[in-house]
Amino acid sequence: MSQVKMYIVTTTTLIFTIYLTIVAQETTTDSFVDDLHIITREEWGARAPKSPADNLSIKPAPYVIIHHSTGSSCNTKVACQLKMKGIQNYHMDNKNWFDIGYNFMVGEDGNIYEGRGWGKKGAHSIPFNNKSIGICIIGDYRSRTPHVAAVEAISKLIAYGVDNNEIKSDYKLLGHRQTWSTNCPGDDLYAMIQSWPHWTKKAK
Ligand SMILES: [Zn+2]
Repeated sequence: MSQVKMYIVTTTTLIFTIYLTIVAQETTTDSFVDDLHIITREEWGARAPKSPADNLSIKPAPYVIIHHSTGSSCNTKVACQLKMKGIQNYHMDNKNWFDIGYNFMVGEDGNIYEGRGWGKKGAHSIPFNNKSIGICIIGDYRSRTPHVAAVEAISKLIAYGVDNNEIKSDYKLLGHRQTWSTNCPGDDLYAMIQSWPHWTKKAK
């Protein structure tokens, strides 16, 4: 091969490699952002908290705790927004907490609904509230598993949390019953999460 030809081939390869790298990065970022639907507090019409939440005392959070809300599930955004308002009212007015207890809730519509959000201490899993992200699936999962849309949403939310330094990369995933005497997150959901990445038998 002549030197000129060689130069052209090498340059073309280099440009193509750069192009591929850029396209690959954009594709990953775009599909990721398009896929993760976090409905903000403003969007679902949350009440203002009675007082601001404390920050987690360990960040990124070393634990992810899975809950179910019990009660009816929802599979449209409109229905899930109503559920969010009801659950927030219950936590603030009946339990007398200053805000909805979970960091995030997930509907069977596949949307994620912002609760206290990232980096905040929740009211969902004594004694793990200051070192965990509490994620609750809306519905009752004692005798059925949640719709795949909700399961996929949680997996994306956790991946986002790990990528953005909100959740430790070697986090432990637990069901609420592993931290407190409760049936939460329901027998069928609890059986299911044992096959999820990072589920850990021992809470500590
Ligand atoms: Zn729970």
